[in-house]
Amino acid sequence: MSIARSLLLKAADSQWLADQMSKRAFSRRAIRKFMPGEELGDALSAAASLQGQGIGSLFTRLGEGLTKLADAEAVRDHYLGVFDDLKARNIKTWISVKPTQLGLDLSQPKCLEYLDSLAARAVATGSSLWIDMEDSNYVDRTLDLYRALKARYEPVGIAIQSYLFRTPNDIDSLLPLKPWIRLVKGAYAEPAAIAFPVKRDNDLAYYDLSLKMLEGVKKYGGLAVFGTHDIALLHRIVGAARERGVKPGQYELHMLYGIKTADQLAFVARGETVKVLISYGHAWFKWYMRRLAERPANVWFVVKTMVA
Ligand SMILES: Cc1cc2nc3c(=O)[nH]c(=O)nc-3n(C[C@H](O)[C@H](O)[C@H](O)COP(=O)(O)OP(=O)(O)OC[C@H]3O[C@@H](n4cnc5c(N)ncnc54)[C@H](O)[C@@H]3O)c2cc1C
Repeated sequence: MSIARSLLLKAADSQWLADQMSKRAFSRRAIRKFMPGEELGDALSAAASLQGQGIGSLFTRLGEGLTKLADAEAVRDHYLGVFDDLKARNIKTWISVKPTQLGLDLSQPKCLEYLDSLAARAVATGSSLWIDMEDSNYVDRTLDLYRALKARYEPVGIAIQSYLFRTPNDIDSLLPLKPWIRLVKGAYAEPAAIAFPVKRDNDLAYYDLSLKMLEGVKKYGGLAVFGTHDIALLHRIVGAARERGVKPGQYELHMLYGIKTADQLAFVARGETVKVLISYGHAWFKWYMRRLAERPANVWFVVKTMVA
């Protein structure tokens, strides 16, 4: 892991920095690169505009590691309302949640209960519920939650991280469930004993796993989502899908709002199914630091915004 990446991921845990950044106007300006705004209305407008360009979307309200179940219930209620809003406005958006935002640190049964009600509402409104993958301490519990939901609902998905050594086995065990899997490279600081420390190795692993997922979709069904901004890698994966007769719709390409926008449109023009993950909410600090860590050059953008 590069020094800059590991420093930025460490800084994500600093409450002092979170408080400082949240107060400063320049940091609010800087985050607009990655989110259309802090309010749900900002996300809805962005989703409607993307839909007009042939790009789908997923929403996530920022916040993680809650310490009270009442807060998790409020998050559930918020998302239940969002599913209804999306249906009322005919915006085809999915929702992606972090288990710790729904109380996983406090009670796994309660977290499952909240996720279950969200999955039921996703089905009732023609949408889909996705579970983000957080750091490696949560992987087993998140997979358990996913398996329980997948036994009851079809349109539920889970993010899986290519940097973890365990991931090939996890994908093998999920494939017979016709899973909806979003493969991502992984955004957290993980020890070298369990995850690739060198980016190149992770990139190679990602491609191998993408082939496993394409074969899985062909054999069992489900949905293979490739969540990355690595455009060359995506082209290779699209080529591999074509060779195997796996069609757009059986697989999708997902990126984050504001990153590689021209490439998103270029993929749409070639007939690919593209979706963008749109974040909103006030608790953006940890999430924003992970975005800076993914591309330390983004820090210069923050510096430029400070002096602008
Ligand atoms: C839809 C989606 C959902 C995700 N969900 C999760 C999740 O649940 N759990 C999890 O651990 N991680 C998640 N991630 C983050 C992921 O793990 C990576 O940290 C992130 O995608 C950066 O890696 P990359 O795949 O884009 O590839 P890289 O090889 O790191 O980057 C490829 C290219 O994209 C550019 N790029 C990458 N990130 C940025 C950025 N922030 N700003 C500007 N340019 C950038 C790079 O400069 C490079 O040109 C998600 C990512 C996406 C796209």
